[in-house]
Amino acid sequence: MATESALPTLDDDAVLETVDCLLCHSNQFKDLVPEGIPDTDGSEYLEEPLRSMRFQLVSCLQCDTVYLRQRPKQSEIGAFYAGEYHCYKSFSERGALMSTLAKLLASSKLKVIEKLMPSGSRTVLDYGCGSGTWIELMKIAGAPFEMIGSDIIPDQIEAAKKLGIEAFVANEDDLREKLGERKVGLVHMNHVIEHLPDPIKVLKRLSDVLVDGGIIYGQTPNIDSADCRFFGKAWVQWHIPRHLVLYTPETLAKHAAAAGLEVVFIKNSLSSATNWANSILKQSAMKAGKEYHLSSHPLYPVLILASMPQTALQLIFSRTSNIDFAFRKKG
Ligand SMILES: [Zn+2]
Repeated sequence: MATESALPTLDDDAVLETVDCLLCHSNQFKDLVPEGIPDTDGSEYLEEPLRSMRFQLVSCLQCDTVYLRQRPKQSEIGAFYAGEYHCYKSFSERGALMSTLAKLLASSKLKVIEKLMPSGSRTVLDYGCGSGTWIELMKIAGAPFEMIGSDIIPDQIEAAKKLGIEAFVANEDDLREKLGERKVGLVHMNHVIEHLPDPIKVLKRLSDVLVDGGIIYGQTPNIDSADCRFFGKAWVQWHIPRHLVLYTPETLAKHAAAAGLEVVFIKNSLSSATNWANSILKQSAMKAGKEYHLSSHPLYPVLILASMPQTALQLIFSRTSNIDFAFRKKG
C-alpha cells in the first residue's frame, strides 16, 4: 500500500495540489500509471511548465474510485481549458453529418427526459451548458420545457444568450441564488461530473434546487470499458488533467449514494461510438508523432458510423466507454 508517490512530477505548489479520495477521504491508493500521465490534448496551446507536467492518476484502495490525486489547483485550471477547447464548438460548426447525428441524439434524449421528468415540473437546467448547444438542439427537437443554462465561464454564457437562451454564470454555490424562487425538475449534466473538483458537493447543491423526486440526468466516461483497455494511452477519455475523476458504474453509484440520491439507472450508451472514432484517430496521430485535435478530423463522423455495430455489441454484451445515468432526489 502506498501513501506517497515517487512520481517524477514538477514540484510546483503554485500550480498543483494533492487531494485524498473525494468520496471516502482515504489517503490509501494505488498508482495506475507510475510514470504519471501527461496532457496529450492541449500541448499545442499550453506553455511550459504546464506543457511538461505529469499528473498522478490513482485508484483508491478503500472505495475503488479512480481520481487525479495530484492535479492543477482550481485557480490555475483555466489554462488547460484555453485555446480551441473542442467542447466549445457549436454542433452547426461540425459539418452536416455531425449536425444530423446531434439532432438524432437530441430527439432520443428528449424521449428519455419526458419519461424521467417528475409530474408537475417543466423546468430543465443544463448544468455546464457551455455555449448553449444542447439547449439549442433540444429546442429544435421540440422540447416542451422551460430550459435554463448555467456555466462557470462568462464567454460561454454570453454566446448562449446570443442564441436567445436563458443562461447565467454560476457554480454550485451560487446556483440557488441565481435561480431565485424557481425549482428544477431535471438537471442535465453531459460530460460534466468527471470535471468537478468536488463531485459530491455539486450533486448535493444540485439536489437542493430540485423539486422532490427531481432528477439529475447525465453522461460520463466509463473507465471500466473494453475500448479503454483496448486503446490504452490512446483512449480518448483520459483527458488529463481536465478529467479529475474517472468513474465505473459501481463508483458512480457510490457517489450518488454519498450525495443522498437514489440511482434510477446507470447504463451503457450507444454514443460511445464517438469514443471509438476519436480513439482510433488519436492512436493513429500518436503513432505518427502528431498532435490530435479532438473530434476535428474529416473522417471523424464516418468513423462514428463505422463504430456503431461494435458499440451496439458492446452495449449488449459488455461495457461501453460512455455511461448514461439518472439519479433521483428522494421525497
Ligand atoms: Zn475512496
